[in-house]
Amino acid sequence: MSDCIFCQRDRLEIIAENELALAFKDSCPVSEGHCLVIPKRHVATYFDAGPEEHSAISILIGEVSRILNRDLSPDGYNIGANVGEAAGQTVFHFHIHIIPRYRGDVADPRGGVRKVIPNRSCPLRDSK
Ligand code: AMP
Ligand code: ZN
Repeated sequence: MSDCIFCQRDRLEIIAENELALAFKDSCPVSEGHCLVIPKRHVATYFDAGPEEHSAISILIGEVSRILNRDLSPDGYNIGANVGEAAGQTVFHFHIHIIPRYRGDVADPRGGVRKVIPNRSCPLRDSK
């Protein structure tokens, strides 16, 4: 789609690709190495991609992790997609965030992606 930034491939810093999916660096990374993986076909959200695209994306996520492990040696990852405006999606070309995590990058990492809705502690998990 011509007015979609993720369809303008020459403007993306691509690090890996396969037949159906592309991986590139996020232009405003939340951690060193933050990447996005997208289907090459323009679809708006996670649920609009087909099984072959999901499979290609999943394979590419593995490849990206190997590149990041080699280059940056992160201690962990958050991997996920925002689906819809209410969930925080701002670019409506489906993408998976791959966010490398480093020990000490936040004071208390417990809960990870649960914290997209803050201040909902889980007593069983959070008690020490
Ligand atoms: P979301 O809020 O899940 O839709 O995420 C959109 C992501 O796209 C954000 O992390 C942005 O930093 C990233 N982004 C926006 N424009 C570009 C671009 N031209 N190249 C790479 N990443 C981008
Ligand atoms: Zn697009």
